[in-house]
Amino acid sequence: MAAFRQRALNEAASHHAERFCVEDGPVSKYFGKNVLDLFKMRSYMSRQAYEAVLAAVKYGAKLDRSVSNEIASGMKAWAMEMGATHYTHLFHPLTDATAEKHEAFIVVKDGQAFERFSGSALVQQEPDASSFPNGGLRNTFEARGYSAWDPSSPVFILDGTLCIPSVFVSYTGEALDTKVPNLKSLQALSDAASSVAKLFDPSVKSVHVNLGLEQEYFLVDESLYNARPDLVLCDRTVIGHTSAKDQQLEDHYFGAIPSKVSAFMKDFETEAYKLGILLQTRHNEVAPNQFECAPVYCEATKAIDQNMMLMIIMQKVAEKHHLKVIFHEKPFDGVNGSGKHCNWSIVTDGGVNLLSPGKTPTKNLQFLSFYAAVLKAVHDHHYLLMASIATLSNSYRLGGNEAPPAVMSVFSGTTLYNIFQSIENMQDLHEDVVNQEAIRIVNAIPDIFPDNTDRNRTSPFAFTGNRFEFRAVGSSVNVASAVYVLNSVVAESLNNFKAEVDALIAKGEELSNAVMTVVRKFIHESRNIMFEGNGYSKEWEEEAKRRGLRAITNVPESYEVYHEKKTVDLFSKLGVLAPNEVEARFEVLNETYVKKLQIEARVIGDICLNHVLPAAIRYQNILIENVKGVKDVFGEEFRELCASEVSTLKKISMFINRMSSDVEALVEARKHANRIEDIAERAKVYSHEVKDLMDKVRDSADHLEMLVDDEMWPLPKYRELLFI
Ligand code: ADP
Ligand code: MG
Repeated sequence: MAAFRQRALNEAASHHAERFCVEDGPVSKYFGKNVLDLFKMRSYMSRQAYEAVLAAVKYGAKLDRSVSNEIASGMKAWAMEMGATHYTHLFHPLTDATAEKHEAFIVVKDGQAFERFSGSALVQQEPDASSFPNGGLRNTFEARGYSAWDPSSPVFILDGTLCIPSVFVSYTGEALDTKVPNLKSLQALSDAASSVAKLFDPSVKSVHVNLGLEQEYFLVDESLYNARPDLVLCDRTVIGHTSAKDQQLEDHYFGAIPSKVSAFMKDFETEAYKLGILLQTRHNEVAPNQFECAPVYCEATKAIDQNMMLMIIMQKVAEKHHLKVIFHEKPFDGVNGSGKHCNWSIVTDGGVNLLSPGKTPTKNLQFLSFYAAVLKAVHDHHYLLMASIATLSNSYRLGGNEAPPAVMSVFSGTTLYNIFQSIENMQDLHEDVVNQEAIRIVNAIPDIFPDNTDRNRTSPFAFTGNRFEFRAVGSSVNVASAVYVLNSVVAESLNNFKAEVDALIAKGEELSNAVMTVVRKFIHESRNIMFEGNGYSKEWEEEAKRRGLRAITNVPESYEVYHEKKTVDLFSKLGVLAPNEVEARFEVLNETYVKKLQIEARVIGDICLNHVLPAAIRYQNILIENVKGVKDVFGEEFRELCASEVSTLKKISMFINRMSSDVEALVEARKHANRIEDIAERAKVYSHEVKDLMDKVRDSADHLEMLVDDEMWPLPKYRELLFI
């Protein structure tokens, strides 16, 4: 066997299950140990400083510079007790990764070494940030970008470094990260939702979002991963024939977790617990080597920060286990891809879940109001919502008959669907009958428990009893980029809802009648987004088109939605993103798309020319030599004797030839695309010309994999990668 592949396989076979991160005692003893939460903070600073932090956390109050020194020195004391030597601001630039720049506490003055951490270092850092994506918001000559502490997430320690969750903004204050718009969207949603909730309960002061993020991922042995240049550089395989057996027997989903994997899971869970991440479930997923974990839901900002941390920890812990975690949405063709199901609910400061149907008519009226507002929001901005999850990597997964379809719809479940239908049907009734009928329906809404709601796994946006599950979000992303869009569209819809109710009340309508009228109107206007059937079916694709729902058929084309007036107005009216910030995001999305596809196109070219082609030619030569030999021995009889061999030889020669010329064409297509000045245009050309040629090249490579002697094949195959 090709030496490289053989070595990787031998190494993989020698990796055994072992635990590395073991803590004494029950989880409760070490849970949150590496986080400086509010409770612990009390013992490290004065009451005045503590109260300043508390006000910042609870009400977003600005921190007074005068107390920041004291807060910093309290943090430093705790961090040093925990063995930390460095600190860093940790922020979420527009790359889907986190960024950090570590600074040592240690300073030397007058020959004396001592540890220092000032208030200004806590509150603000200035990373040389010109090399983060900024979509033209910052020219390199005014390259300053600031990261600033976001007190709503607690500081924590990872690998001996005090990590300070931060926002990242330009010199002139524009958002350069995913956190700023998310925080602003949470505020906009809180304002809008509180004003609607107050119709039913005047004591409501604020509303927050809860998120439960289910994380799917693949695991691959580190040696095998490293033997695949495509995995190393793109986190996905750009060639590879499907394995004879993969997920068709459905024997992996919820199956027994392999011991190597379970040792890894227990270790990363231990590390996550220490950071206060409450992981609750773990199980095998549908594809071989695919797994999922989910924490208990919590407040949105914290949930997103924790998800980003979780991805880092998993990768770090995996190293100890000789494993690689793959968060890419579609690392292997032919088997399921991965998502990050985003469970989203809205809750008042009094702890009332506004998406939970209840026991009393008032509560049900409130539930219907919020539900109808979400429906209308998703209906009106369905394309924007899908665009918010559209990336190159997610595009390999969407619409693939195993992942959410590329067109948005909302699944409500039979009970609710019937309720909405009867509410909508009241449209034609006489006014008095409408009121009576409405009261009857509101009274009759049953408690819908999350556990016994119907599950529709084919819907990109499904109601599950007391929350919506946005299932189209990709596994590798920072979910904030989808969440701020969702928060914003719902905020806008709630504002409209409230305005319409107010207008009716001003005309003398009684509150519950006014609410019911607007609920009915919103449901009626959102009719087209409701779909209860099979989202994977061909019929739905056609039906969705008839309904005027726009599907994502091409990623860069979908980004054009950020140029639509409706989108720009949405974000600027709510104060989430100014028009130039929206434009910057548009640029960055296109740029990222191009860069990632460019890397993939280069990698597939390299692999085919440097790995596949030499192996195929070597095998071609062996066959030629053999045919010649048979001819030497048997004379003209060789034609009959070698018929099948010659046919294989022809196929191999044909695929070698086709692959070589397609790789050449691919290089040319890239060159042509790279000459296009406009980034959005370039992305479009990449998405058609470059991608189409990559598919062609792959087709030849995958055929060759089936034809060439296994002994000579240079790269680990799917069957070797996919079964730990
Ligand atoms: P499933 O795979 O059936 O969707 P999981 O248990 O894997 O269910 O994940 C459900 C996720 O939804 C968990 O993270 C859970 O904490 C979260 N969740 C439950 N209730 C809510 C809620 N009210 N708001 C937000 N997230 C929730
Ligand atoms: Mg789920």
